[in-house]
Amino acid sequence: MLILLVEDDRPLAFSLQTALRKLGYVVNHVENGETCLHVVATEAPDIVILDLGLPDMDGLKVLKKIRHTSTTLPILLLTARDSINDKVMGLDSGADDYLAKPFEMTELLARLRVLERRLSTAKSTKITIGNVSLDAATQTVIQQDHELELSRKEYMLLKSLMENAGKVLTRATLENRLYSWGEEVCSNALEVHIHHLRKKIGTDFIKTVRGVGYKVTQA
Ligand code: CA
Repeated sequence: MLILLVEDDRPLAFSLQTALRKLGYVVNHVENGETCLHVVATEAPDIVILDLGLPDMDGLKVLKKIRHTSTTLPILLLTARDSINDKVMGLDSGADDYLAKPFEMTELLARLRVLERRLSTAKSTKITIGNVSLDAATQTVIQQDHELELSRKEYMLLKSLMENAGKVLTRATLENRLYSWGEEVCSNALEVHIHHLRKKIGTDFIKTVRGVGYKVTQA
């Protein structure tokens, strides 16, 4: 789950990032609306946590611009403005949920789980390729009636590849789905995850495209 956090309050952003990463979320952080829009367009995050009070543009404007290009991307608003009017305006502008500052981390996590569930029911949750079935709702992978035990990173890697079956995903694309910006990552970490996945799933399922990346194909 790739979360884009848009928040100019650095201490708050830092504590959110730290807490979310500990739970296994990949979290990228930007501090203004312009960068947010760029990253939404280029990195395809799964969920956006958007502060309304940003230094360069009103969060509501950012929200409307995102809704212009994506009607389904889940957006959770954070705001210091706690009036009914602001809440209604936020939701009317296309936010999925709304959290007034200060909030408890546990509440943010609960709201995120709701968005995650909605996301997995909105998309078709099951992808089957060959004898491998991945269910995003239950985060399980079944191969010939046998459930595979995958680490979180292995699961995320396999999910990205299966969702994009037939396409070659570059190393950079896969690393972006697996790691937060600035996270310390060994240069061969991706290969190590691929290696472990192949051990569990068979060597032929994930194809290496030399010098480019990896793919899985239907046939
Ligand atoms: Ca702010």
